[in-house]
Amino acid sequence: MAEVVVDKVSRSFGSHKALDDVSIAFPDKGFYGLLGPSGSGKTTLLRMIAGFDFPDAGRIAIGGEGVERVPVEKRRIGMVFQTYALFPNMSVAQNVAFGLSVRGETKAAIEVEVKRALDLVQLGQLGERRPHQLSGGQRQRVALARAIVTKPRVLLLDEPLSALDKALRVDMQIELKRIQREIGITTIFVTHDQEEALTMSDRIGILRDGRLVQEGPPEEIYDRPESEFAATFLGDANILRGVATGNGIRLPDGTVVSANHGTKPAVGTTASCAVRPERISIYDADDASRGEKNRLKGRVSKRIFAGNSSTYFVEHRGDIIKVHVQNNGGVKLAEGQSVILRWSPGSAVLIDR
Ligand code: ATP
Repeated sequence: MAEVVVDKVSRSFGSHKALDDVSIAFPDKGFYGLLGPSGSGKTTLLRMIAGFDFPDAGRIAIGGEGVERVPVEKRRIGMVFQTYALFPNMSVAQNVAFGLSVRGETKAAIEVEVKRALDLVQLGQLGERRPHQLSGGQRQRVALARAIVTKPRVLLLDEPLSALDKALRVDMQIELKRIQREIGITTIFVTHDQEEALTMSDRIGILRDGRLVQEGPPEEIYDRPESEFAATFLGDANILRGVATGNGIRLPDGTVVSANHGTKPAVGTTASCAVRPERISIYDADDASRGEKNRLKGRVSKRIFAGNSSTYFVEHRGDIIKVHVQNNGGVKLAEGQSVILRWSPGSAVLIDR
């Protein structure tokens, strides 16, 4: 078992708290996506799990054992960073073999393990090449092979794909996930890219200013954000602000919108309601057949066409509400047109402010 447990960990640099009382259990063999704005503490947390840095307070355990006194090389951790410096004067195979040679393994054993690792990343044929003879994606695979060849218990990935272009990046996301499943390794993946985190992770944790804002399975965080920050950081969200009515909020214009999920802010206090743009239906205002609940009137201020979908920016009493619509030949509304927006209370989340 290689569950990684970070328990009430804090770390300051001078007066700046890079991590503030962070607790996360990274499941054994799971793929955990760590997200957060620049400077939120993601790398600091990885460095402490790896053993390059130490908490001021709190504990870190791997496989049930505290690692405070375990040096980097004994923690059995593989790492791939954005700048995955390969040794330029060594062949691909020699690069991958490096960790095993340092460990003093026999030549025969090294050959077997290097071949296995290169086959896993589908570079079995390129062992003799030098790094400069490889594409960016291939180099990234060598870095991954080098990280897993020593059979680590935990794999730490710090934005390993961010230097790749979009198409290659999507290929590598699929590859990385396949390899991770195949070897069943506890993986912690830092990324800036929310879509990447959503598609790849079994669980996601969002850090902000050194604090854990929310964590859980991707769908749970997406469908039930607990703060405006989580709602807008992971995916796109409309945030409507008003006064809590019990199971909804009253907007400044008097309209009441209800939500079936989230907290129950005390009646009369300020609260928000978060709705995803794809959960909102948009109709021509002349269409009178629509119900009265969760209904806002507005005017299309802009429509952005994006091939298979369009985004409408609808002005409602000075606020802009975004609506995503699939372009399947249905809705097509012009800029300036009066519209009605509706959504089900089951698609909205109440947030305490
Ligand atoms: P990014 O996404 O930009 O890589 P991050 O979430 O990984 O950011 P960290 O690198 O963990 O953020 O940094 C968290 C905070 O701690 C930042 O404000 C950073 O400036 C500060 N910090 C990190 N390492 C040090 C250090 N060695 N000395 C001083 N401050 C540091």
